[in-house]
Amino acid sequence: MNEVNGSVDDGLVVKGLFAGYGRARAVSDVNLEIGRSEFVTLLGPSGCGKTTTLRCVAGLHVPQSGEITLGGARLYSPAVNIPPHKRDINMVFQSYAVWPHMTTLENVMYGLKAKKMPRAQARTKAQQMLDLVGLGEFAGRHATDLSGGQQQRVALARALATEPSLVLMDEPLSNLDAQLRARMRDEIRQIQRRTGITVLYVTHDQSEALSMSDRVVVMNQGVIQQVGDPWALYHRPENAFVATFVGEANVVPGTVADVGAHAFTVEVTGLGPGTVLDIARATAADCPAKGDAISVVFRPEWVRVPEETGTASSGGNTFRARLVSSEFLGDHFERTYEAGRHRLRVQAVTGPTSRPPEIGAEQTLLVTPENLTWFHREDAGDPAPSAHEDAAGEPTTVLGS
Ligand code: ATP
Repeated sequence: MNEVNGSVDDGLVVKGLFAGYGRARAVSDVNLEIGRSEFVTLLGPSGCGKTTTLRCVAGLHVPQSGEITLGGARLYSPAVNIPPHKRDINMVFQSYAVWPHMTTLENVMYGLKAKKMPRAQARTKAQQMLDLVGLGEFAGRHATDLSGGQQQRVALARALATEPSLVLMDEPLSNLDAQLRARMRDEIRQIQRRTGITVLYVTHDQSEALSMSDRVVVMNQGVIQQVGDPWALYHRPENAFVATFVGEANVVPGTVADVGAHAFTVEVTGLGPGTVLDIARATAADCPAKGDAISVVFRPEWVRVPEETGTASSGGNTFRARLVSSEFLGDHFERTYEAGRHRLRVQAVTGPTSRPPEIGAEQTLLVTPENLTWFHREDAGDPAPSAHEDAAGEPTTVLGS
């Protein structure tokens, strides 16, 4: 939980949630704690169980087992199932779901009137909410006569108006164009900070998750893979799925050969005979033991090509690699290299004085010990690198999208 936010006693707790459709399991053993005023995002590929989890919290889908509490009150357990309208939770959907026959103001007033707020007070509150989302001047307009982005802001104002304990947002920006999506991200985050509402957000867009959230929950195939703040997820992924789903990553298997006070050394023969990489220890405690089977992770943007940048290669890890493809994007090259049995993605930044190399050129690549991270290998029982090769023995270094 984010320390700046409220205690989890006031927030949402999901324990051992299993849910599915008929005999098909969609969500397995999901455990979550969201503190008051926290913004937490479920991130994962299509079909990984994000919406099912959200719908269980909302009361729109009945779990197979588990327990859900909000502000200490039990919403679901095998013995309890509070109906959706009594859960003090509002939802914002991808499809906006504004009522077409009502004005913008009436849309926002709807929930307040349902809660028996006197009409004049509801009108004032709804107008305040519209002002908050920048739609004050559109109060009298029919909600469907607004643009997509404006309709989504009406939905947001409506969800916030009753000051629920929790707002659930299911891909609320997916129907908007890229520019508006970027602006709305920022607006939703600012409004959430200003109002202090607790948000559980769902997206498959990693940049949305990283830019908006206090913490991100990465899911795959119905199972939570890792929970962490955006920085930790990107820089300390705990398995290959997280490393490659959150950003792009080169993942290379190795064995710890030596452990020093500030760094440890990993043999990565897959990158070429005798290749070793030094990895800086982030903290004294954070270190594998000699002989451990680990995966070394480095991002394309962490690799340097010393001969093109004039960087000194002393003090860094270097290995030889052959250029397989190179795309010039102005500010950098998107390249693929072959090193030993691996294909590596590299974002090369070069200056105006250095012409790019020919395809097929042999170059030295550099990654500093500080820019390498690692996790214990899931296939540690297997003979070293083979789990990263396909049936034909081709290199299949794991890369993100
Ligand atoms: P997306 O990003 O595509 O919305 P998601 O991560 O939200 O995906 P869910 O919608 O929770 O995933 O679906 C999880 C699994 O449950 C998927 O395998 C999906 O096919 C299945 N599923 C979802 N809804 C139903 C349904 N009504 N009936 C049967 N299976 C369903």
